[in-house]
Amino acid sequence: MCEGCGKAVVHQFAERRAFLKLILTAPAGFACNSYAVAQVNKVAPKPGNVLTLDAALDRLMKGNARYVEGVSRRHDFNHEREPLRTGQNPFAAVLSCADSRVAPEYCFDTARGDVFVCRVAGNFASDDIVASLEYAVQVLNTPLILVLGHDACGAVDAAAKAIKDGTTLPGRLPALVAALSPAVKAVQGEPGDLVDNAIRRNVMVNVDKLKTAEPILGMAVDDKKLRVVGGIYKLVSGQVELLA
Ligand SMILES: [Zn+2]
Repeated sequence: MCEGCGKAVVHQFAERRAFLKLILTAPAGFACNSYAVAQVNKVAPKPGNVLTLDAALDRLMKGNARYVEGVSRRHDFNHEREPLRTGQNPFAAVLSCADSRVAPEYCFDTARGDVFVCRVAGNFASDDIVASLEYAVQVLNTPLILVLGHDACGAVDAAAKAIKDGTTLPGRLPALVAALSPAVKAVQGEPGDLVDNAIRRNVMVNVDKLKTAEPILGMAVDDKKLRVVGGIYKLVSGQVELLA
């Protein structure tokens, strides 16, 4: 019996104590949400996506290798739609830059229902992004999060210039500068190119942020239900270099 709605609901799919606690203690509007309940009462729509942490990363990187080699698979969109009509169980989540040259679904040679993608210029974990990833991990049982930066990132470059020159960008762009400033300031004075260093540091700053985002992501990492890694997408080769 769902205490939130009073309906006879047997929660079968999720075994996590925290998720059950979330469902049972959530306001009725959330607990009775048909979509959320559907996720816990049915088998995984894509059984092949039920993977261990390491197997999920291995699958991502093998997909990237196919993409780099130009041998990406042909995805049958028509037949993919039906099994995904009532749910999803992506095997990985990706936080990437909004840059149009970076397309996670393509660069990992994945189909619909495979990767849960959050994008924002500069690939940083805002509260909204963290909440979205919490949904992926807690409700969809996604075992892997990849924070994906890329070389020649315009957002990081603009933030670095604004901080270095002490200028204020127009519109709402200062919000991006503020989000990226911890990484930029952390590498100021280091040998090498400031933007390249800041791009890599920004990935790791956000990997650490997600790993320790309590209570959901941090606990999932502690329980070894979630792995969080970082990588850099190379614009010329298409290759993803793992950082950690
Ligand atoms: Zn970018």
